[in-house]
Amino acid sequence: MTSGSLFHSTYQTTIAGSVTCSGIGVHTGQTVNLTLHPAEADTGIQFVRLDVPEDKSVVRAFYLDVTDTMLGTTITNEYGVSVSTIEHLMAALWGMGVDNAVVTLSGPEVPIMDGSSEPFVFLIECAGVRQLSAHRDTLEVLKKVSVQDGSSTASIRPFDGFALDITIEFPHAAIPRQRAVYDFSRHTFRHALSRARTFGFAKDVEMLRSRGLARGGSLDNAVVIGDDGILNEGGLRYNDEFIRHKALDCVGDYFLTGMRLRGMVTANRPGHGMNNKLLRALLADRSAWRLVTRAFVQPALAAQHAPVPAANFSL
Ligand SMILES: [Zn+2]
Repeated sequence: MTSGSLFHSTYQTTIAGSVTCSGIGVHTGQTVNLTLHPAEADTGIQFVRLDVPEDKSVVRAFYLDVTDTMLGTTITNEYGVSVSTIEHLMAALWGMGVDNAVVTLSGPEVPIMDGSSEPFVFLIECAGVRQLSAHRDTLEVLKKVSVQDGSSTASIRPFDGFALDITIEFPHAAIPRQRAVYDFSRHTFRHALSRARTFGFAKDVEMLRSRGLARGGSLDNAVVIGDDGILNEGGLRYNDEFIRHKALDCVGDYFLTGMRLRGMVTANRPGHGMNNKLLRALLADRSAWRLVTRAFVQPALAAQHAPVPAANFSL
């Protein structure tokens, strides 16, 4: 069965076989090996650090475990073991309809690859996606929830499907103020968003490097904007690549409930911090959502909040 047909599946899915890639971590600049493994139903997406003791190595992809959102989304387990820059991989897993997978990593961050989700989409496609026998839960938004952080705002409201309505605004002529709406019953993640690369300003690179960050960042894995425009020789992949990448980031971050959302996110100047803040506000309001498993409504999210035992999957 193709992965495309499983995006709207009412059953949970996983990948059909293990697949590996390697690339550099954008922050450390070091090579990281990543392998996606199939996992059983209700595992969700779990990261396993192969460079730390086994009993402390599992880091679950869950919104309550997000500990840093400065330059990407970082998750940390109860032992202080972190995985950084998970969002482009999370977006690819969501977009390809994958609910369950174990992701082993040889280091502390997901490789940046080309700065987009496309290499991960390709990897998942190579593995294939298969259906499991357990039903898939959907997190249905029942009422509007809003958050604000300075001039950034975000809200989520009831909607039949999942959609993003995003506005971006940067103090730079190379990035015009833009608004875009992506409704994933009409747009596919793969075609609309997966190739959009992360971006940054040349003037910020020195500052980041002086703080020991972005050591692996280059024109090979980001669109870099200088004073006179875009520095990448090939230019942009989409005319509006910046807003598409912001949408891609939202897709990855909003998959951190471990479920597919039914709702519409409206965000002005979204970022990883705002995305996480909105998810926390939504889930904290018990009257704002419910879990739907086909026709059944589940009583509580309590089970999803409990740590998943490491023995729940096989490597
Ligand atoms: Zn990104």
